[in-house]
Amino acid sequence: MTTLDVKADFPILEPDAERRRIIYLDSAASSQKPRQVLDAVRRFYEVSNSNVHRGAYDLAVRATKLYEEARCKVTEFVGGYDSRGVIFTRGTTEAINLVANSWGRDNVRAGDTVVITALDHHSNIVPWQMLAKQQGAAVRMVEVTEDGRLDLEDLRAALKLRPKIVALNYVSNALGTINPLPEIIPLIHEAGAVVLVDGAQSAPHIATSVSDLDIDFYAFSGHKMLGPMGIGALVARPELLDEMNPYQGGGEMIQEVGDEQSTYADIPAKFEAGTPNVAGAVGLGAAIDYLNDIGMDAIHEHETGILHLALERLSDIPGLKVFGPDEERAGVLSFALDDIHPHDLATVLDQEGVAIRAGHHCTQPLMRRLGVQSTARASFYVYNDESDVEVLACGLEKAKEIFSYAA
Ligand code: PMP
Repeated sequence: MTTLDVKADFPILEPDAERRRIIYLDSAASSQKPRQVLDAVRRFYEVSNSNVHRGAYDLAVRATKLYEEARCKVTEFVGGYDSRGVIFTRGTTEAINLVANSWGRDNVRAGDTVVITALDHHSNIVPWQMLAKQQGAAVRMVEVTEDGRLDLEDLRAALKLRPKIVALNYVSNALGTINPLPEIIPLIHEAGAVVLVDGAQSAPHIATSVSDLDIDFYAFSGHKMLGPMGIGALVARPELLDEMNPYQGGGEMIQEVGDEQSTYADIPAKFEAGTPNVAGAVGLGAAIDYLNDIGMDAIHEHETGILHLALERLSDIPGLKVFGPDEERAGVLSFALDDIHPHDLATVLDQEGVAIRAGHHCTQPLMRRLGVQSTARASFYVYNDESDVEVLACGLEKAKEIFSYAA
């Protein structure tokens, strides 16, 4: 049973003169935005727009206040250590690259090991491979089990290498697997490593406390959690950020600029060179308010309800194979139907007004282990309901019929 009824808050889900009705099942790629977020961004530009931290005039003060309030909302929402440890970035990818380039270059040396996992998104793989190549370090990828969970025995084996850092996601975007972080993180710290958690798929869906979980670096994107594109954050232990060198140089991040050398501002400014995405931060703050009003536990319950409904309904369709674990799974459903190519499935579903994702989901190492090139993926969020699952299932039945004629 699904429990939330918020579809009406999302203008894009209503048909309009330019566009027919859409059943949006690709929130793992990017979520839709409620009116409350759209209004907050618009209002920022209408009444508070200005650059931040530099003007003495009223608009600059208003913009700065809104920007810093958004930082406080993020800190509270993810249970950060304190707001000095929240760096606004373009999103998860930029936050991970910041850590790899700043912390990584100073702490990972020739002969060291960096541990990543086969369940991860390319954003949490490639920056570490690039760092390892630059520094002459080794990359060790932790394996997955056949049902798409992290292989904890293999993680233990990898930790024996005494890695400098372990980078892993909380929730897999390709399979929905929820990693057991409360069990894993103490093991990582006991092995003497710091941990970076890619929270791109957890921040929108699971109540998280970065400080309770003892996470050193946590990265997420606003656009997947009802916020605008181009804004996200790195949430980190302030003492780690204090020790780190800046990732980018420019305005705002300096204390004093000499002819040949400069000194840097304190955190968080040290890591926010240039004009930030103020409207994005304000929109992210509005998205956090919206999520808090519903309640993260209610959201998780709603998505789990839809996922189980979908698993049950899709199990009626002969030839449909679901990838990923039965339990400990967020609202992501990766599947294959007979030997129909996932792109063909997505095209047939699009004709029914259903938007799903087909492809490797930026997880090629995982796809290789699953023995496939790509999967079809439906992902659910606050605005999906039972009727969406039924339209998806009927669309898949139609695809099966079309391709059985073609065969
Ligand atoms: N990690 C995961 C698990 C993701 O799902 C995504 C987005 N698909 C990213 C990282 C990258 O996020 P962004 O493109 O917003 O930086």
